[in-house]
Amino acid sequence: MALFPTVRLRRLRENPLVRDLVREVRVHPSSLVMPLFVKSGKKERKAIASMPGIFQFSPDEALKECEALVKSGIRSALLFGIPESKDAVASSGRGENGVVQQALSLIKKELPELLLIADVCLCDYTDHGHCGLVQEEGGQRRVDNDSTLEVLSQIAGSMARAGADLIAPSDMMDGRIQRIRDELDAAGFKHLPILSYAVKYASAFYGPFREALDNAPRFGDRRSYQMDVGNSREAFREAEQDLEEGADILMVKPALSSLDILRGLRERFDVPLAAYQVSGEYAAIKFAGQAGAIDERAAVLETWTALKRAGADILITYFAKDYVGEL
Ligand SMILES: [Zn+2]
Repeated sequence: MALFPTVRLRRLRENPLVRDLVREVRVHPSSLVMPLFVKSGKKERKAIASMPGIFQFSPDEALKECEALVKSGIRSALLFGIPESKDAVASSGRGENGVVQQALSLIKKELPELLLIADVCLCDYTDHGHCGLVQEEGGQRRVDNDSTLEVLSQIAGSMARAGADLIAPSDMMDGRIQRIRDELDAAGFKHLPILSYAVKYASAFYGPFREALDNAPRFGDRRSYQMDVGNSREAFREAEQDLEEGADILMVKPALSSLDILRGLRERFDVPLAAYQVSGEYAAIKFAGQAGAIDERAAVLETWTALKRAGADILITYFAKDYVGEL
């Protein structure tokens, strides 16, 4: 191997045009997904204090926001719901009157050019805030896996009927992809892909999201279903299971603390990969930028590029709207 002074790696860094010419990784607007929080009501737009610049929208306002997204060059949105009422069995997540279902049918009708991804989980709609049904056994409350699958499949089916283009289960129950796939196929949605939150760590970076959705667990935590941050082999087992069950796209979250997982998935599996730059990652960059500690724009573009470099095809990020024009 040739060495210095024959080799000078700086030669390719000197001229900005050469730097651009040899850049290995680029982010394209088509890979960005903007998350949206949809709440019940009309003409409402409520700011989320821990996520400056991010709002909860009533379905009519969500439509306006989506029109602005499309104008800015965004092609995909991921919808979460904040229903009017919650109960133990996530009833408000399942019907066609559900808040996300209303937004989906409204936006799909008016803006067919925007890809709509529906989050499928129970925690948006349960009063206990857990991602599954809670059962009590011998004085112990635990999130029950198998009975949750039925509810998840009902939510997924109703999202599909409302017009979702992609179904994204985020609950981390075992066997949910298979169950949702069966439900979608039986309901006439064989063509609808599933984007699985395959590797979702129990993370401190979800903090602001809980304010955004008001879905913090009322007891215990989510560590019995979300993954332990210390594990990577388990991440690949999760991914393999989901693929076996019919997942079309795999997602990893949080993004920046999971670069090794993205890389490992990229090397193991030939399916599209998504990285979710979560609420705490957004807030960290946003507040640091506001304090003058870092350059927000440069930090956002750097993180997006790093996620692509690690192997992500799709970037789900609250910064999508602000910086899509920079790509
Ligand atoms: Zn959940």
